[in-house]
Amino acid sequence: MDQSTSRPIVMLDLSRQFAGIREEVLAAIAAVCDSQQLILGPEVARFEAAAARACGTTHAIGCASGTDALWLAMAAAGIGPGDAVITSPFSFFASVSSILRCGAQPLLADIDPATYNLSPTAVESILQQRSEPSVRIRAILPVHLYGQCADMDAFAELQHTHDLLLIEDAAQAFGASWRGTPAGALGDAAAFSFYPTKNLSAMGDAGLVTTSSADLDDHCRSLRAHGMRRRYFHDEVGWNSRLDTMQAAILEVKLRHLPRWNRQRRAVAALYNQIFDASGLVAAPHESLSRNSQKIVLPFTDPRATHVFHQYVIRAPRRDQLRQHLAHRGIGSEIYYPLPLHQQAALAHLGYRAGDFPISEAAAAEVLALPIYPELRPDEQETVVDAIRAFYA
Ligand SMILES: *Cc1c(COP(=O)(O)O)cnc(C)c1O
Repeated sequence: MDQSTSRPIVMLDLSRQFAGIREEVLAAIAAVCDSQQLILGPEVARFEAAAARACGTTHAIGCASGTDALWLAMAAAGIGPGDAVITSPFSFFASVSSILRCGAQPLLADIDPATYNLSPTAVESILQQRSEPSVRIRAILPVHLYGQCADMDAFAELQHTHDLLLIEDAAQAFGASWRGTPAGALGDAAAFSFYPTKNLSAMGDAGLVTTSSADLDDHCRSLRAHGMRRRYFHDEVGWNSRLDTMQAAILEVKLRHLPRWNRQRRAVAALYNQIFDASGLVAAPHESLSRNSQKIVLPFTDPRATHVFHQYVIRAPRRDQLRQHLAHRGIGSEIYYPLPLHQQAALAHLGYRAGDFPISEAAAAEVLALPIYPELRPDEQETVVDAIRAFYA
């Protein structure tokens, strides 16, 4: 029996990535140890410069996490009490919690059923309906879910028509682009996460804000270090959210490899598409899933987007049973996200109810992320698809 196919196939095996960059990473860590410049050492500024270059912005500000990057970007732009920010209910919790942390009010709009990204049409209808004088809509926060940019042409138009800020939640999309412009450079500011499972990952928590505004850059730098521009003189109440020097050193190494890793992710996704297409398991685009359907829906890529496949997400009938079936065969899978944000207990006070965002709710019931990472092997992908075929047979 082939040993390799009998091993579990996990969602993400970072040890394969590390095996390829071990010497470089250990050397970078050793350099930090040798210098003992542990807080905002030279590696932080070097990584920030390289990241800004990669994103096509003039500035990048390292911070402690993607969640903090969202908060920093919005707080630096002056979003606070009395303001509202429109975002997606089909995202990680931080997309909404960061708005609340600014003291602002999240307004949710449903998603596009093909890409799962915030729907510009749904956002526009909020902008046309709402004229509560008690809150002022200040910003749109699209999320580039699974590594594919939201429709940034449409959001840029809404931004200009309604005089809003446009802030990207690019936590899953380092290296993605929209009509050739990189994620991070598509709005006033963007937030990235380097949580270990992200497509560009640290070896712990880390995050980044990108912007081409010198004012936002200066304000983010102040806010990440206690509102201190001059040591022990505080202009405002900020936070302690610096990017750790050790993480910056690791990220500097990994950023050099990222273009290749993103290409490999796209190749893995293309091979999944090809094997699934040949399997007879694939429903026609946008075909709805009935309970008795045996067909799955593959990820849709907008022709204007360069997708980096942070996740490869299918829609599957009897999704939870399929997930169990895969688990029994040692195949990992994950649900991003099983409960839309408007139905989360912590956000009950926002006053939304089940049924408010039917496209998000349907997606939450049907999506399944399959193993994907640059080093995933074709034989492992075959095994994953075979197991799915066996479930529906
Ligand atoms: C991961 C993630 C975040 C938060 O990033 P952390 O680094 O975990 O704080 C925010 N938004 C989205 C869409 C994410 O996927």
